[in-house]
Amino acid sequence: TAITSDIDALSREVQKFAEIKQKQITNLNMRESYRREFLGNVSHELKTPLFTVQGYLLTLADGAMNDKRIGKKYLKRANKGVERLIAIVKDLDLISKLESADLTLYKQPFNILELVQGVFDLLEMKAKKRGISLHFNKHYIYPIMVIGDVEKIEQVVTNLIVNSIKYGKKDGTTMVSFDKTDTKVLVKVIDNGEGIKKEYQARLFERFYRVDQSRSRDQGGSGLGLSIVKHIIEAHNEQIFVKSEFGKGSEFSFTLEKLKEI
Ligand code: ADP
Repeated sequence: TAITSDIDALSREVQKFAEIKQKQITNLNMRESYRREFLGNVSHELKTPLFTVQGYLLTLADGAMNDKRIGKKYLKRANKGVERLIAIVKDLDLISKLESADLTLYKQPFNILELVQGVFDLLEMKAKKRGISLHFNKHYIYPIMVIGDVEKIEQVVTNLIVNSIKYGKKDGTTMVSFDKTDTKVLVKVIDNGEGIKKEYQARLFERFYRVDQSRSRDQGGSGLGLSIVKHIIEAHNEQIFVKSEFGKGSEFSFTLEKLKEI
């Protein structure tokens, strides 16, 4: 009986070991297929603007350059394609930095009100082009102090506000408002634009996911904006939420650690 119980114990060990190995293999396979899918997505994303640029350059070389007006128009369009390529490569660079194991957050206290105002100022022209006004839900008298990596949170706020301009209603508004609890500040970016159907909402934060492929590409985004946002917020151990009603507008919000008042 001592031997049979030894054999039982041993076979349980072997079974456990086999299960662990199987799990590791599944993980590796998942990572590998994820990597392959990501590379496929990247090359697809790069191909579209590259072909556009090539198309305009070939047309120019074929004689379009002889007409000064058309030549200028095509050069401008080719440049738009290059700008898109730069945007994609920049975002890819950012994603790979965010995913690297040694991502360091430089957390410090800052006034989120001031940070949002800075982003409003930078994006004012872009918003104006679509007739969109950027503002707070009310006049805030006191600073709203939070703790986080200022540069990265600025990226989050920028991406959310850029989206609210791209997908917002023409001549509409983007509103930023804040809710506070004892320990957290909730930052909300609200637009009254096209909104997002329920069935698409869960996938918005995936890389390269777009509700409307061609429309979003026309807007010049890389398809990585919201996945970057999610990464940064999760690295802070905070949360991000989306609420949206199709045809009415969207609200993207995230939490930040509130600086304790002394
Ligand atoms: P991009 O805007 O470059 O396509 P994002 O990751 O920033 O990529 O957004 C993913 C998709 O989510 C967009 O293509 C768009 O379909 C949808 N989306 C994002 N923000 C909004 C918004 N404020 N209103 C409506 N749709 C949005």
